[in-house]
Amino acid sequence: ATRPGVPPREAATHCPYCALQCGMVLRDTGERVEVLPRQFPTNRGGLCQKGWTAAELLDHPERLTTPLLRDPTGGKLRPASWDEALDRVAAGIRTVQSGHGRDAVAVFGGGGLTNEKAYALGKFARVALRTRHIDYNGRWCMSSAAAAGIRAFGVDRGLPFPLADLGRAETLLLVGANPAETMPPLMRHLADQRRRGGRLIVVDPRATATARQADLHLQPLPGTDLAVANAVLHIALTEGWIDRDYVAARTEGFDAVRRTVAGYWPAEVERLSGVPVADLEATARALATAGSAIILTARGAEQHAKGVDTVTAFVNLALALGLPGRSGSGYGCLTGQGNGQGGREHGQKADQLPGYRRVDDPAAREHVARVWGVPADGLPGPGVPAYRLLESLGTSGGPRALLVFGSNPVVSAPRAARIERRLRGLDLLVVADFLLSETAALADVVLPVTQWAEEDGTLTNLEGRVLRRRALREPPPGVRTDLAILADLATRLDAPVRFPVDPRVVFEELRRASAGGPADYAGVSWERIEAADGVFWPCPDPDGPDTPRLFADSFPTPDGRARFHPVTHRPAAEEVCAAYPVHFTTGRVLAHYQSGTQTRRVAALRRAAPGAFVELHPDLAARLGVTEGDEVRVVSRRGELRAPARLSPAIRPDTVFAPFHFAGAARANSVTNDALDPVSGMPEFKICAVRVEKA
Ligand code: SF4
Repeated sequence: ATRPGVPPREAATHCPYCALQCGMVLRDTGERVEVLPRQFPTNRGGLCQKGWTAAELLDHPERLTTPLLRDPTGGKLRPASWDEALDRVAAGIRTVQSGHGRDAVAVFGGGGLTNEKAYALGKFARVALRTRHIDYNGRWCMSSAAAAGIRAFGVDRGLPFPLADLGRAETLLLVGANPAETMPPLMRHLADQRRRGGRLIVVDPRATATARQADLHLQPLPGTDLAVANAVLHIALTEGWIDRDYVAARTEGFDAVRRTVAGYWPAEVERLSGVPVADLEATARALATAGSAIILTARGAEQHAKGVDTVTAFVNLALALGLPGRSGSGYGCLTGQGNGQGGREHGQKADQLPGYRRVDDPAAREHVARVWGVPADGLPGPGVPAYRLLESLGTSGGPRALLVFGSNPVVSAPRAARIERRLRGLDLLVVADFLLSETAALADVVLPVTQWAEEDGTLTNLEGRVLRRRALREPPPGVRTDLAILADLATRLDAPVRFPVDPRVVFEELRRASAGGPADYAGVSWERIEAADGVFWPCPDPDGPDTPRLFADSFPTPDGRARFHPVTHRPAAEEVCAAYPVHFTTGRVLAHYQSGTQTRRVAALRRAAPGAFVELHPDLAARLGVTEGDEVRVVSRRGELRAPARLSPAIRPDTVFAPFHFAGAARANSVTNDALDPVSGMPEFKICAVRVEKA
């Protein structure tokens, strides 16, 4: 809305999209909201096109500004009052729970929710609904790296060092990461590294924009990264490049790993992965002989049914070379979603309570229950990982009602057509969002919520740095915050305790709940964040230091030592065969973010990337009789996608790629495999078997 004659207002905040959380200033001129880049340690004054255009959604014509209700006979969504909508939600929850038990209602959150919202959502599920069924879409993002980090280091903080350390690493190994498209301002740190004479090695089945800048690009067959890591460690062992003092003083379990990687002969791994022995050797040498070296993984390594073991193979390599905790060196994961890090720390994961505590730990339950003012024995136990939860909806014994906050699983879930059917079969589907996402379009009740420029709160970026989100303006009439919705529903459901609406009050409670846990925020206050460029957890003491770098002296394990775990290569859950002879992999493009609900509605981004495509190598295209722009079908055992062909020598001839931001016939997740990692519950988004044909 325009405000003629009113002086401009400004708010120093952060981009609403990815985990880099670039600093920006929002300026409300009275006629429009402008985005200006702001100096911040992660983006150093840069923004990508998603950040530059983020304000376009604030007054977007498709913005939801009133609750929507579907009549019980399955008609169209119609506008409704908040009272009518929340009454319907509360009544629906009561009916489902009285007929089928408390676990018949489930909650699904998102990695973009603020820390306060993620915390309140976990508390709402366990205290107001008393259901064990809560999980979130971050399960599909970095959960494999989180599980690998916890079992090796005793804690999961994506980067255990500030991002600026990348610029000082002599050797940087990026595995399955494409920041040139997903987090472009991060490339400023890589440019620093190159200026200082550093060496960049990228492992990726595609010659991405990032891989094209590398000194060395390893282009393995999707799903063989683990074998590549074991072969590099094999070479380091053979050459005597292991840091024996570090291994002896700071780790446990190396002998078992040594025995395992002894069998990973480089020549055999070359046959398996397609990565030449010379490149494996060059990688080992560059990592082992550098004064400082960093290994980073992202979704390409992690989104596999063996994602935890794949990340572990790279963690083993880092430990054997003595990198974690050494100045300017280490292992880290590039978390993806805006609050991907904080979103997993405050209790919206099926197995966790706030402070990154385990829900099955009696001491953790006692502590959190005390903060919440409820009996510990009334708290539900662990639920199931995100895909298992969604897959069980409406089935015998599965939840019959679902509340979704900040997520769009109709586009983002693997084997998405099945999940869509499950959602359609529910007794009650409630979606809180600010746009009518593909999931919201199926809902019985849609609740319109505030956007990032209209709310205060905190997020925790990929470095474990807690940041302030600052409101620029009031939300439009008819829109409520997620916190207000949870508080109102809790009251209607006769929850035993109050749910605060003020994010500052929620944060104070979160601090107490996290105190003493692995992700300890007890010493973090909004004032302290304001006074610095954020605060790194753990920060247990308001008067003590925060922790930009972890592991310098010890690891947070019972004996202070990191743990090696031997891991072995195993084939993908689905291998190519005569009927499905091509590998399929998915990823992101520069102009779009996650399920595309937001970025597909921004005109400049739509112009930059108007639709999906199927990237295939010219040799494969020639065999199939496909030319540039032809509509092709990519068919797996689960479904198909249709999109124009984009021919590129950047991809292996045995693999095709499609971005996962698009819906309808171009939905990549109609094709992907729902095989899960047994430890993390991560689906195998990054590889399945398909056939490709001209449509
Ligand atoms: Fe926003 Fe991420 Fe782009 Fe930065 S890199 S502007 S945080 S989307």
